[in-house]
Amino acid sequence: MTDSFFQTGELVSVLTTQPLDRMLDYKAPEGGCFQGAFVEVPLGPRKVLGVVWGRGKGDYDLAKIRSVTRVLDAAPMGEDMRAFLMRAADYTLTPLPAMLRLATRAPGLGDHQSMRRVYRLGSATPDRMTDARASVLKVLRDYGGLSFTLGELAEMAGVGTSVVKGLVKLGAVSEEDAPRDTPYPRLDPDHGGKALSDDQAAGASALRAALRSDAYGTTLLKGVTGSGKTEVYLEAVAECLRMGRQALVLLPEIALSGEFITRVEGRFGMKPAEWHSGVTMTERRRCWRMVGQGDAQLVVGARSALFLPYRNLGLIVVDEEHDTSYKQEDGVLYNARDMAVLRAALTGAQVVLASATPSLESWANVEAGKYARLDLTARFGAAVMPRMGAIDMRTEDLPAGRWVSPSLRAKVADRLEKGEQSLIFLNRRGYAPVTLCRACGHQIGCDHCDARMVEHRFLKRLMCHQCGETKPMPSTCPACGVEGKLNAVGPGVERMGEEVAALFPDARIAVLSSDLFGSARALKAHIAEIAAGGADIIIGTQLVAKGHNFPQLTLVGVIDADLGLQGSDLRAAERTFQLMQQVAGRAGRAETPGEALLQTYQPDHPVIRAILAGDAEGFWSAEAAERRAAGVPPYGRMAGIILSSPNVQEVFDLGGEMARRDAPLRKIGAQVFGPAPAPIARVRGRHRVRLLVKADKGVPLQAALAEWVGQFRLPANLRLAIDIDPQSFY
Ligand code: ADP
Ligand code: ZN
Repeated sequence: MTDSFFQTGELVSVLTTQPLDRMLDYKAPEGGCFQGAFVEVPLGPRKVLGVVWGRGKGDYDLAKIRSVTRVLDAAPMGEDMRAFLMRAADYTLTPLPAMLRLATRAPGLGDHQSMRRVYRLGSATPDRMTDARASVLKVLRDYGGLSFTLGELAEMAGVGTSVVKGLVKLGAVSEEDAPRDTPYPRLDPDHGGKALSDDQAAGASALRAALRSDAYGTTLLKGVTGSGKTEVYLEAVAECLRMGRQALVLLPEIALSGEFITRVEGRFGMKPAEWHSGVTMTERRRCWRMVGQGDAQLVVGARSALFLPYRNLGLIVVDEEHDTSYKQEDGVLYNARDMAVLRAALTGAQVVLASATPSLESWANVEAGKYARLDLTARFGAAVMPRMGAIDMRTEDLPAGRWVSPSLRAKVADRLEKGEQSLIFLNRRGYAPVTLCRACGHQIGCDHCDARMVEHRFLKRLMCHQCGETKPMPSTCPACGVEGKLNAVGPGVERMGEEVAALFPDARIAVLSSDLFGSARALKAHIAEIAAGGADIIIGTQLVAKGHNFPQLTLVGVIDADLGLQGSDLRAAERTFQLMQQVAGRAGRAETPGEALLQTYQPDHPVIRAILAGDAEGFWSAEAAERRAAGVPPYGRMAGIILSSPNVQEVFDLGGEMARRDAPLRKIGAQVFGPAPAPIARVRGRHRVRLLVKADKGVPLQAALAEWVGQFRLPANLRLAIDIDPQSFY
């Protein structure tokens, strides 16, 4: 189906980014407009951004209908993108205007394109050729088709700007004004492919064939860290580029992208477009526009890159598909992995989900025959998987307030002697999770949340990890007023840094935790320095578990392998299993084999045993059987409802009423649990109550939820958020 064109004055229906519950009719502007056009429309006294969604309904006084102010200088939104926004809105129970806001998050979309002076190859040849002139012409020829600003061109040619200007006078270089947002340089799919191992070659060829089918399909690409998954999916990207379609690679952490962009450049000769919070506003706008007009072939980005207006999307790679950061936890609550599959299905594109430790959801979709699966079984080249072992903490002799067991200490000492790196892993930021008064037993909590304040000694403050509130460390107990009795209880990474420094005074120690660095750039630079050998012992949170390469690292010591197992979260076992495998995967990526040691008080816990045995399939089958029996995801469906308000009575009253008036849910056989205080019952001064809805797979859950929630009137200050397929239960 092709998009319609509306003549001047015809009625069109426009979706705006404003929080209205319907679309509005306008008259098509002078010159008409296409369906999907990005437009500016008058709304009351304001002008707002919108998209021409279709033909106007004409159910409004024609005399009062105003005209579209103007059509914006951007490619119209394709039909598949409009369908995607509607389906995503339905799935997440999000109003459509909020989805459109997600899809237009680039500044200055309404601005006219500003121009800049650019330089290209001209038609004349200068009669006198100098080295400097030749160098300028060579750059323009080498980058055929690209245009440069004066400064860029002079710099790339290694000449002064006067040389370029001289060539302009001679007609050998042309000078013209072009829009500031320029196309991205063309990527060459055949630039730098590596010779693949047999496993890799088989995987790459399966993905190429899938792409050539020109239809939707999803493939789970599973392989241990370092097995060469990235090389394989870059081959799929190459095939996608050859077919003239666009590709998107989603990454979970911006910390990953620096290393990754360099790698992409090595493979395709040029840098791809980037989309994440670290990208400048100008670059965001360029990316958005170029993606829309098909002049960005490959986007590497964070989850919201999924909502860019692709012209002709052929492939979406979701790297580290199990990563929890793919779930957006505020605003529009969506899971980028699931939305990637939806987007691809509506566009006829392929999805590659890559992971060493797939989510149970994806594993189950493979079992059910919905996804294809490719396995890379060995590490690439000489690197082998680390040996896994447990340190039984019940038998270790350790004084209170110390966490590095004598066994682990001996292993680290051994690595130091050999000049190899060790990683001490503890997934807890700050110095100590609890500050306790030894006189009265009071624990310092946040004033606005039901959470303990975490001491950050580096910042010299206490911090609430829920709301970010900080306060100075008091010298007297806020409860009993006794001085000098406040004590740090439990370890955080900063405290581990202290303990390790005391154990190994001559070692170079680096503590890596997201809050110790002012910017993603600073963190990236620091990680690169450490990877190059700038530290003997690395102490880190889960930040280091993700994708970074530390070639000299041969030992990983996990301080508290039991930590993740304590929660009541239905994914506690899955998360622990994934995290431990990822962390262990950091060891021994180069030629030296690695070793991963888990400190645990429960060496016989089934999850710990599965980790030690490296028996992923066994673990997944057991976990799947338990979840199937309990009828929980991925074998059943869930939705979380969070009610929050400054008024505690109101949230409980409404929660109770919702639980009683559950007929729309019972109609589809769904059950509602709660209301119960949310695990963190107060955040930023708002009291939080949650209800949990459980349903069978395949029932129309969203429609039932909408009907159910629609029965209630919310008090002014009360917020209701619906979280479909909740990932976290805080
Ligand atoms: P994964 O994505 O599974 O963690 P990578 O693709 O990052 O694995 O590969 C691990 C390392 O091995 C990287 O340094 C990569 O450059 C290298 N590598 C992988 N495949 C090849 C290959 N076919 N030829 C040369 N080097 C390779
Ligand atoms: Zn707080």
